[in-house]
Amino acid sequence: MNLAAYACDPALSRGRRIPEPVAPTRSDFQRDRDRIVHSTAFRRLVYKTQVFLNHEGDLFRTRLTHSLEVAQLGRSIARTLQLNEDLVEAIALAHDLGHTPFGHAGQDALNACLKNHNPHSAGFEHNLQSLRVVDALEERYPDYDGLNLTFETREGILKHCSKRNARHIEAREPGGVARRFVEQPGHEPAWRQPSLEAQLANLADEIAYNAHDMDDGVRSGLLSLEQLEDVPLFSRYRRETLAVHPRLQGRRLLFETIRRMLSAQVYDVIDATGRALQQAAPADVQAVRQHAGLVCFSDQMALQSTSLKRFLLQNLYRHPQVTQTTQAAQQVVRDLFEAYMADPAQMPQAHIDRFDSSDSPQAAGAKPERVVADYIAGMTDRFAGKEHERLKGHAVFPA
Ligand code: MG
Repeated sequence: MNLAAYACDPALSRGRRIPEPVAPTRSDFQRDRDRIVHSTAFRRLVYKTQVFLNHEGDLFRTRLTHSLEVAQLGRSIARTLQLNEDLVEAIALAHDLGHTPFGHAGQDALNACLKNHNPHSAGFEHNLQSLRVVDALEERYPDYDGLNLTFETREGILKHCSKRNARHIEAREPGGVARRFVEQPGHEPAWRQPSLEAQLANLADEIAYNAHDMDDGVRSGLLSLEQLEDVPLFSRYRRETLAVHPRLQGRRLLFETIRRMLSAQVYDVIDATGRALQQAAPADVQAVRQHAGLVCFSDQMALQSTSLKRFLLQNLYRHPQVTQTTQAAQQVVRDLFEAYMADPAQMPQAHIDRFDSSDSPQAAGAKPERVVADYIAGMTDRFAGKEHERLKGHAVFPA
């Protein structure tokens, strides 16, 4: 791998929370990726919703296929920019591990449950939950909880964090992954950004979901090709496709248009980021962290991407048919939370064994409401539906 000076070099990694000898044939970031792929939370992604509920069809994206698409996009951009592909891949594959069942609807419901239970609760944040999964909740190794990943992978996973949770993490891990979310009086210049690999995984996430949500939207019949003409980026590449293939229509026209849109965005990121890096010329990763974000679209592509996002929000994510299923999904999450809080014995004993008074996002032991939230967050859409039926006696979603 040909790495630029500002890329993350595994030989210069800030290391793991618990030191381990290096592996004989793999770099530390390759090893992180392998640990993520072998984790239980990773396998569950196959039955977790991205936008469409899992029972609605087998061809829609799930969190697993989404994560694979993010990793693939991220890797190909990383290689051209001489960034660390293995690290981008590890972050991309782990970035959604903390998502609840039923997509954002499930997360909002779980957050509300925690806040209703205790107004002082830190609530539920999916980025922080992804970190909690790899730091505390996975049970695979004899000597520690979690996967003991490198700082750089963990830094990338924690894309956002509330100040309050950041202070908790900073207290346990000073100068660690939450540092950039904590105010730093007297520490100028502030540590503002994660590595370029983390910034790239983040942008690849957006590129991936914008593209595949259009595809899934049309596949589901909730969006039409005609409607997509309102999206400047789509209409431009649809025209370009038709100029080359005048008789193309239906799915192949959609796929070819999306393919060209994806390529245009990838090349745009490579060009715009290349220019930003040339101008900023960060000497190393720490200089990257102190700089404003460097992985970016050009101004023009940023505008087009925003208008695509707005279109999807208005026409797909808020489509009455989607809203209807999300309301049912939120009811499932609320009912499960209430049921386990009222009678924890409805959960497997291993979860009850984690009850204690800890308030740290990075400890497996936690207050009952956090343990219940962890249990629900770990569920697949299918399992949550089945549990709901077992506890409430009726099915909310068709089998
Ligand atoms: Mg994602």
